[in-house]
Amino acid sequence: QARRLEGVDKNIWVEFVKLAATYSTVNLGQGFPDFPPPDFLKEEFTRAFSGEKHMLHQYTRAFGHPPLVKILAQLFGKLLGRDLDPMTNVMVTVGAYQALFCCFQAFVDEGDEVIIIEPFFDCYEPMVKMAGGTPVFIPLRPKAPKDGKLMSSADWKLDPAELASKFSERTKAIVLNSPNNPLGKVFSREELELIADLCVKHDALCISDEVYEWLVYDGKEHVRIASLRGMWDRTVSIGSAGKTFSVTGWKVGWTVGPNRLLQHIRTVHQNSVYHCATAAQEVVAQGFQREFEHYGKPDSYFVQLPKEMQQKRDQLVQSLVAVGMKPIVPEGTYFLVADISEFKSDVPDVPNSDEPYDSRFAKWMVKNKGLAAIPLSAFYCGPHKNNYNSFIRFCFAKEEATLKAADDILQKWK
Ligand code: PMP
Ligand code: GLN
Repeated sequence: QARRLEGVDKNIWVEFVKLAATYSTVNLGQGFPDFPPPDFLKEEFTRAFSGEKHMLHQYTRAFGHPPLVKILAQLFGKLLGRDLDPMTNVMVTVGAYQALFCCFQAFVDEGDEVIIIEPFFDCYEPMVKMAGGTPVFIPLRPKAPKDGKLMSSADWKLDPAELASKFSERTKAIVLNSPNNPLGKVFSREELELIADLCVKHDALCISDEVYEWLVYDGKEHVRIASLRGMWDRTVSIGSAGKTFSVTGWKVGWTVGPNRLLQHIRTVHQNSVYHCATAAQEVVAQGFQREFEHYGKPDSYFVQLPKEMQQKRDQLVQSLVAVGMKPIVPEGTYFLVADISEFKSDVPDVPNSDEPYDSRFAKWMVKNKGLAAIPLSAFYCGPHKNNYNSFIRFCFAKEEATLKAADDILQKWK
């Protein structure tokens, strides 16, 4: 075994996907929609495979199928307010996952530090380590709202002085994930400006994971950190067609940024994956073309999806409140974290186990109640797993019937 694999062998998704497949009747664990993608995308999918476009079965350009990089450059150029060159400012990857992997491989050297905000999407830590870097963690700290209101993901905040103290001359980059998985926090412009100022001051890069960019609720605004002063030149923005069009199995993602950074990402890509499935890229390109033409209009999927998801969020909030699991209402994403500390259960005590309570709870719940969720401790680094160990994460990107079935399990259990 190569040294770079030491300590990165465990994976929460491998473990919980298997548990869910074995025991769950209702799966609100791993994040994926159980409803179909939009009709226009399914139609393009059929067209792509119908034989008219037989070249879609062959290789395409290494750094992104031309129609896809062109429309991504157009759309993100508009969103970021700058002209983007499809060939040098955009690169297509095998999901956002590979985009992240390319970034760490491209920029992180032995001894470099990478700042990661806890709780974080789990793969950042092993990916930084595999590149030889040292992750430096900074927590979002919760502050309970007054007057018995439900907590919101906005109540989880960075301490500005604590954040500043994590930056040093060893800092190569910070990973930002807004909207954040698992909390659903949407970082405000002020919070992003704080991060941006520190990046500029310490000449650090920002790896901005924005896969949930369209899933923002209650009229909140998703601010792209690359659009803030001094940030374009030092930011790689990452997106995912899986989240954008509810097609997680297609594994199409992208990076957007300045050529001075993307040239190195291209080097990693050409020496590892080389290129992504042509047909999937073609269909995603058609989907974006359609969305570009409907931008901001009521029938745009980017307008409709968050509307539907906000209702699903509210439905799950109600189910949880009714049984005494306290939801942290997310401002974005399709995840919701709930506090289980006062929820009664028969999770057996395991003497001398250092497994966090939430992890034992989630395993017990799927085995005994058939309901799958993910423990929040999975989104903390090893030494911090017991800091917040009485929360579980539910995915609400689900059909009405699935959410109803989850509600039935909870109400019966109460
Ligand atoms: N980043 C975050 C925050 C995610 O939740 C996910 C979902 N797996 C990814 C990246 C990876 O996205 P993809 O499925 O496109 O690889
Ligand atoms: N992003 C999804 C989640 O957080 C899936 C992660 C995965 O399968 N690696 O649940």
